[in-house]
Formats: sequence, structure tokens, C-alpha cells
Amino acid sequence: MGLGHLIVIAGPSGVGKSTIVREMLRQTGAFFSVSATTRNRRPNETDGCDYRFVNRATFEKMIAEGQLLEWAEVFGDYYGTPEKPVTEALSGAKTVILEIDIEGSRQVHQKLPEATFIFIGPPDKDELKRRLTNRGTESQRDIERRYARAAEEMCVATGSGIYNHMIVNDDLDRAIRQVVDIVKEQTQK
Ligand code: 5GP
Repeated sequence: MGLGHLIVIAGPSGVGKSTIVREMLRQTGAFFSVSATTRNRRPNETDGCDYRFVNRATFEKMIAEGQLLEWAEVFGDYYGTPEKPVTEALSGAKTVILEIDIEGSRQVHQKLPEATFIFIGPPDKDELKRRLTNRGTESQRDIERRYARAAEEMCVATGSGIYNHMIVNDDLDRAIRQVVDIVKEQTQK
């Protein structure tokens, strides 16, 4: 797809993916693909940086026009990766990071099996529930939905054979270091 390298980072909601990715980007200077989503913006999020927040009609137009490299409906909202910025960054020999769900990474794997796939899992289910609750950004119903999906995602991911690296986020600093090392290794290739 270009001179650069694509790295897909997937894992259940609440596992600490965003924290790990944010710090990894700071340390590596890799290019972050900003996803489009129809979900509501959280107070700490910036449109165009964390996500591109769009309505359903706009998202459905993006699907219809083939603008998305992958997309999935997660917790009743659409999430997807606009293809053009990814292609352009790869053509510019950049290391490109997608932070997406496992359905999206399955789609990317079908199109671009040469990408690197990283799965970040929680130490255990109780810890995941605690993190989802402590984050304080979702309602109790959303927490339950995210928790139920996490259990399913972990089974699917383990059996999928897609992931080159499975990382357990039981120690944040170590998880960051592991992801940074993978990104640096791919960037130097
Ligand atoms: P959140 O609402 O917590 O930001 O994200 C919910 C889930 O959607 C997370 O698992 C996140 O990785 C995933 N997600 C974010 N962006 C994308 C995307 O562009 N495509 C897909 N398939 N999933 C995404």
C-alpha cells in the first residue's frame, strides 16, 4: 500500500488502549489515523484529534462512497477509518497507527495482511470492569455492554490467528514499552 508500515492496535474498550497509544505516539512520532464516529463526543475529546465526529447520514455516505478502509458498528454507533489519510501517510513512508475494534482489524487483515496486528488485553475481567467503572465516562448500561463485548472480543481475538502480538496491560509502563518497541522495530525496517 506504500512505503510505510501499518500497525493495527485492537483490544476491548476500557483496557487502556488510548492511554498506551497516546504515550506511544509521543515517543515514536508515528502517524495516528483519526477515525470517524457517530458517537457523542466526550468532554475530554477534541473533534479532529481524537475522532472526527459525524452524524449517521454523513457516515453512511462515507460507506457508500467507499471512503473507509474498514468500519464497524460498535455499541450502536458507527466507527470507521477514512482510507485517504492512511494511504497518503503510508506513501510518505510513515508508520501509521489504527486504534480500532477487532471487527475492524479483521477487515484490515483481509485487505492488508502484511500489516502488524497488536491485541491489548486486560489482566483479568474484574480489573476491566473496575477500569470501565472508574473511567466515569459511560452510563451503567454502557459499562455493562462494553464489559460483555470485551469478554466476547477476547475469545474471538485469541482464536483468530490475526494478531502478531498479544499484550497484557497489567503494568501500564511495561505495556507502553512493549508497544513502543514494536512500533520502533517496524519503523526501522
Ligand atoms: P470508544 O467509544 O471507547 O472510543 O471506542 C469504542 C470502540 O471502538 C473501541 O474498541 C475502539 O477501538 C473502537 N474504534 C475506534 N475507532 C474505530 C474505527 O475507526 N474502526 C473500528 N472498527 N473501531 C474503532
